[in-house]
Amino acid sequence: MSKFEKFTPVMRQYLNIKKNYKDAILMFRMGDFYEMFFEDAKEASSILGIALTSRDKHRGNPIPMCGVPYHSVDTYIARLIKANKKVAICEQVEDPKKAKGIVKREVVRVITPGTVLDTNVLEAKENNFIASYYQVSKKIGVSVLDISTGEFYISEFSGDDIFNECKSFFEYFNPKELIVPENFKINSNFLNRIGLNENIFISKVDTWNFSLNEAEESLKEHFKVKSLAGFGCQDYKIAIQSAGALISYLKDTQKSDLSHVRKIKIYNREGYLYLDASTIKNLELVRTIYEGKREGSLLYIIDKTLTAMGGRKLKSWLLRPLCDIKKINDRLDAVSSLVDNSDIRAKIQDYLKRIQDIERIISRVSLGVANARDLIALKNSLLMLPVIISLVKRLDCQIFKYHPGYKDSLEDIIQLIDKAIEEDPPVSLKEGGIIKSGFDNKLDELKRIATNAKEIILQIEKKEKKATKIPSLRIGYNKVFGYYIEVSKSYIKFVPKHYIRKQTLVNAERYITEELKTLEEKILTAEEKMFQLEYELFLKVRERVRKESERILTSADFIATVDCLCSLAEVAEKYNYTRPEIREDDIIEIINGRHPVVEQIHFQQNFVPNDTYLDRRTHQILIITGPNMAGKSTYIRQVALIVLMAQMGSFVPADKARIGIVDRIFSRVGASDNIYSGLSTFMMEMIETANILNNATPKSLIILDEIGRGTSTFDGLSIAWAVTEYLHDNEKISARTLFATHYHQLTQLANTLPKVKNFTVEVKEWQDNILFLHKIKPGTSDRSYGIQVSKLAGIPEQVIERAKEILKNLEKVEFDSHGNPFISTIFKPKKRRKMVFALQQSLFSEEKKHPILKELEKLDLNNLTPIEALNILNKWKNKIKSNS
Ligand code: ADP
Repeated sequence: MSKFEKFTPVMRQYLNIKKNYKDAILMFRMGDFYEMFFEDAKEASSILGIALTSRDKHRGNPIPMCGVPYHSVDTYIARLIKANKKVAICEQVEDPKKAKGIVKREVVRVITPGTVLDTNVLEAKENNFIASYYQVSKKIGVSVLDISTGEFYISEFSGDDIFNECKSFFEYFNPKELIVPENFKINSNFLNRIGLNENIFISKVDTWNFSLNEAEESLKEHFKVKSLAGFGCQDYKIAIQSAGALISYLKDTQKSDLSHVRKIKIYNREGYLYLDASTIKNLELVRTIYEGKREGSLLYIIDKTLTAMGGRKLKSWLLRPLCDIKKINDRLDAVSSLVDNSDIRAKIQDYLKRIQDIERIISRVSLGVANARDLIALKNSLLMLPVIISLVKRLDCQIFKYHPGYKDSLEDIIQLIDKAIEEDPPVSLKEGGIIKSGFDNKLDELKRIATNAKEIILQIEKKEKKATKIPSLRIGYNKVFGYYIEVSKSYIKFVPKHYIRKQTLVNAERYITEELKTLEEKILTAEEKMFQLEYELFLKVRERVRKESERILTSADFIATVDCLCSLAEVAEKYNYTRPEIREDDIIEIINGRHPVVEQIHFQQNFVPNDTYLDRRTHQILIITGPNMAGKSTYIRQVALIVLMAQMGSFVPADKARIGIVDRIFSRVGASDNIYSGLSTFMMEMIETANILNNATPKSLIILDEIGRGTSTFDGLSIAWAVTEYLHDNEKISARTLFATHYHQLTQLANTLPKVKNFTVEVKEWQDNILFLHKIKPGTSDRSYGIQVSKLAGIPEQVIERAKEILKNLEKVEFDSHGNPFISTIFKPKKRRKMVFALQQSLFSEEKKHPILKELEKLDLNNLTPIEALNILNKWKNKIKSNS
């Protein structure tokens, strides 16, 4: 007996299917259950907490097995997906009654964390992307697709910074699954490098899917186009390779044509304020640095959207602010109008609340998994559209007027669903109760037969009683014989000839008649036929909806846009934000700016507002000193956040804000949560700093928080000093910069660099205590108050006292007798002429002048011959030689 033959035929069928889905848990439909076997059963039973049993014990070869009932399979699949598993669903694809031998079975769908559609798994306001990565020497092609919404993006990176760019891309899309070619080696270091979580679900795909020809063909076939030029992506060869492989993988696993994936978009930076991965993290835009929670992020504060689609859009607006003044103003105009017309906004929001996730419903429609409840949810959501459009019309805003969804209220689709689908249909598609009466004549007839069956039977009974004159004649039903006429024994002689005897009981005989048989067949098959017809009609309706998916998705986008703008207006009103003025120049001027998150989370009333002025001529670099805890980081982040909010089209937390367009925000802040990447804090810090120096432009905004902290004081200070000089002097960069530092020595830079200005955070000091006033004012702080802060933190008195003693000694070494830090003489710039003046100043101001300088001072140049001068020079030179 071969290895295979020892199994029953059905297990052989199972094994045959399973061998194509080795990496998935195969759920094998058997009657009312989905069964899992062998290792799958062991794994699934432990994840799902269900009993592990066995099968075929009598064959001496028990097979581990577990199963879940078909009607609740979704919740079990959801749990397996949440446990990061891949699940293959194998259905019976023919009617078991009609099957000859074993029922035919096929895998109808493979579900992975990146392809799941179940709302139990998906986060409403988050996209669920699956990504594809392809690398050819120094070029990377990437693509991401959300099958729950149909969004599809590609990008390509080349040059020196490919990994950082890739990291920003993945940080933005946050995919849940990654596909790579079969032979591509992957480890956690690599994943970190490209911005992916090391637990991401990885699927390896046949390498030839990534070949250019194959990939291009897959995409062309999918979009039914002759060339990809229409999407503008024909030159993104490597990205196309990744995207083509992705679409093939999805078609293969979803067994669907993915018709809701309508276009491919190129994700590039043009037209957007670019935020790299570390800035998105550092500014805590969508989650906090330390805990990784949404609560406490900027998104958490500004997201008042009421639909899932609006939530996803707002997140994308936040992570991709605009650079086009006209587009920004279009959004701001709408926010302004919605603030001024809060009554209209309240009405719109009331309707928005009732709208479900249309994008995801359409995806389910396209993938052929939407049920009747989905269509009802779609109808009820779309019903809100005409009202929202009419309300929005009253606002007269360009952004709405020019949206393609503005003119289409989808009434035909609403009507179609309304006419066809019952209001409260069951989940199952094959048990009837889906299609409304009046939609289809044939169905109505079948329904009539099924529901009127009792009535008709009674009529026959009456008729037969009358004809035979048998008073006890009655019609009954049982499962074995179906409908029958029962006549008690005493009346048998009256039974007409055409009655066919079927069963004999003690006191009675049971008969059938031709008429009864025909009726029985009609009744019994009517129900079956009705279910089948309802199912077919449903599929037709669903298909008609699918054909309109482009229009429906356009409306969904319109709704999302309205939702986002209402959310921004609500926040603006609630938190007292103002409309920023966006300009093409380089001035950033903020009056009474606030940090949008800190003011809400900690200090509703007491947040101290601060002003900011930056430009490229006089105030290019602001150095902000002050003790720890004074509010430096809060201040510099607040400026970055206000700029970002303004460019996303939001009002801002300030009394007044004028924003000269920013093309990129860079940040380097103290905290580094990248410990698991294997790089030291200092290395991370330097990588981020290098990125800034290499990529900033005159339109950029840089916020630096304590650079150089991860190394020794002098190393750190030197680096910080040089970085500032570089930013100041290099015309190609000269980006507007806010630099918070506890190196008070850096304030010396303002003496020599005209575009550097010093600011400090006000603190009040009395005796040994300090009070943080959080007010930024021009000037410097020469003390770090570290000891006072540690006192506040509860460090024991003894340690504090000792620290004070040590500080005194250290300060003796660090400052000259005038109280000037030695730093200004330590950093002798070599090439900078402007610096010479400052250097001379400090040299001459010293008490103990160098003897040569003293001599030089005494020299009377008017009475010196050239030869005498040369001799003196020679003497000095020898002196220096002998000293060195
Ligand atoms: P630093 O960077 O100077 O060490 P932070 O910016 O981290 O200080 O601020 C320390 C704390 O001070 C913040 O967590 C916040 O609670 C509070 N804070 C900062 N700025 C303000 C402000 N403008 N108004 C009120 N409280 C503030």
